[in-house]
Amino acid sequence: MKYPAPLVGLARALSRLPGIGPKTAQRLALTLSLDKELSQELEVALAQARERLGVCRVCGNLAEGELCPVCSDETRDRSVIAVVESPADVFAIEKSGEFRGLYHVLGGVLNPLEGVGPDELNVRSLLDRLEGVEEVLVATSMTVEGEATAAYLAELLKERGVRVTRPAYGLPAGGSLEYVDEVTLGRALSHRRTVGE
Ligand SMILES: [Zn+2]
Repeated sequence: MKYPAPLVGLARALSRLPGIGPKTAQRLALTLSLDKELSQELEVALAQARERLGVCRVCGNLAEGELCPVCSDETRDRSVIAVVESPADVFAIEKSGEFRGLYHVLGGVLNPLEGVGPDELNVRSLLDRLEGVEEVLVATSMTVEGEATAAYLAELLKERGVRVTRPAYGLPAGGSLEYVDEVTLGRALSHRRTVGE
């Protein structure tokens, strides 16, 4: 039996989502093809997300409008910026409740083998917003690439007189912040270490 083209197309699109393999994509596509109510609900939610959500023009976090909720919050500590890989990391850190500064979303980590250099990440825009900033907490993952990215940023930032810190040890090596439980993450963020001292 040949699968109908609309089902194949839907499965193909779904398989591009992170964490969705071809089998899961096919199962989801089948569910959505049969459940008209669910597919309608998804259609509306997708349209709303597409129209109303974008990227904060200051930090690169997810935003509804020009600025994200953190950048537009006057009570945040503007002397500290946490550099993270993705908006998911912002959510994880916010959940820990241990950080009151601002964020900067890099959009990934340096990965020369995959062609990701500084120009592919939001590095320039970080350097452009250092006025009044005393500390940059580089909260990239504890992977080889995450550490290399932190070392690279530390070099650039120290030249500009900014103290560079990393979350304290205790975060799992090789892990992404997104998957660390909030207590561990909170502890690592409140005890941070200065890079290169
Ligand atoms: Zn922002």
